[in-house]
Amino acid sequence: MTFSSFSFKVPGEVIYGENSISKLPEILSTMSLTNVLVISDRGLEAAGMVKKITDVLDAASTKYSIFLDVEANPSCDTVDKATAMYKMEGLNGIVCLGGGSPMDTAKAIAVLASNGGKIQDYEGANKFKSTSVQILAIPTTAGTGSEVTPFAVITDKEKNYKLTVFSYEIVPEVALLDPSMISTLPALVAAATGMDALTHAVESYLSRASSLFSDAMAEKAMELIGMNIRRFVANRGDVEAASGMLLGSMFAGIAFSWARLGDCHAMAHPLGGFFGVPHGIANAILLPTILEFNALADNGKYEKIYNYIKRADNGSSFVPEMLVNEIKELLEQLSIPKTLSEVGVKQELIHDMAIDAMKSGNVLINPRQTLLADIEALYQKAL
Ligand SMILES: [Zn+2]
Repeated sequence: MTFSSFSFKVPGEVIYGENSISKLPEILSTMSLTNVLVISDRGLEAAGMVKKITDVLDAASTKYSIFLDVEANPSCDTVDKATAMYKMEGLNGIVCLGGGSPMDTAKAIAVLASNGGKIQDYEGANKFKSTSVQILAIPTTAGTGSEVTPFAVITDKEKNYKLTVFSYEIVPEVALLDPSMISTLPALVAAATGMDALTHAVESYLSRASSLFSDAMAEKAMELIGMNIRRFVANRGDVEAASGMLLGSMFAGIAFSWARLGDCHAMAHPLGGFFGVPHGIANAILLPTILEFNALADNGKYEKIYNYIKRADNGSSFVPEMLVNEIKELLEQLSIPKTLSEVGVKQELIHDMAIDAMKSGNVLINPRQTLLADIEALYQKAL
């Protein structure tokens, strides 16, 4: 066995535990945050999740302002509005409660409040030196893994384009993982976000930029998600399954922070940009098609992934198609749509989406070398 060279750091602190949100005031005080922006969305407000956090802050007399107008696939406009509020109120940190959208927005605010300009100026890797804004992230899905990643994805609505900002400066200082915060998710959201987490683990594991360290994280993620995703979607109040998913999603986030992803994510972003397909659904629909395409490059990892995800041993010796079929069966069990046409994607825009997908750095580290024509054919196949 040969070992590829790597360096590895996990810059944020991870705090996990049942009812760990009760420690919020104590943690904020350690971070010297006295007047924070609570950022979340209207769905979480309606589900009573925002109140759970503000109740804890109120009880400790911690000062805060609230911004809740974060939409799915957050836009540059939303980032500008939230940044203006952050500056106007003279706040000194962010408590971010969400799925990926509030977290991406929080990271983008940190960039703009510290460096000025607009978020489009910072697209790409390390386009600014530092940020002065600390973020405490509380995930409400399992998930994006965004609570431990150095990425923020913001949508430029005028261009239907999702831009990615990358810097270790925007990794939240603290990720607070409490399984009670994901216990009221609707089943389809639990399924879609769970498949996103699984896709993070699988793509980072197969990535040509993977290392021993990222593999260890990805394997733990696949073990936890494979064991718990069905149970969790069936009953989000199952604390053991919720904890497994929350931790699995966090491990997957660390894995792809380093190893990055692949064609599936490169192609999922334009589906969100052009057609507003939720990120988890886009990845879930694409995953079997991409695994089929990448099977030619398999160096033995497919069988390991299969062993983490399979429900039962069927006794036959492994071939990559078994993994593809297992994922298809999993989507069926989780009631996730199977084709892109089912979620409103139109053939006419395949070429435009493929051009955007090719701009993603994830194509370059996909296990099988991929050209524009391949991406077009893969969209066509998944349609
Ligand atoms: Zn993702």
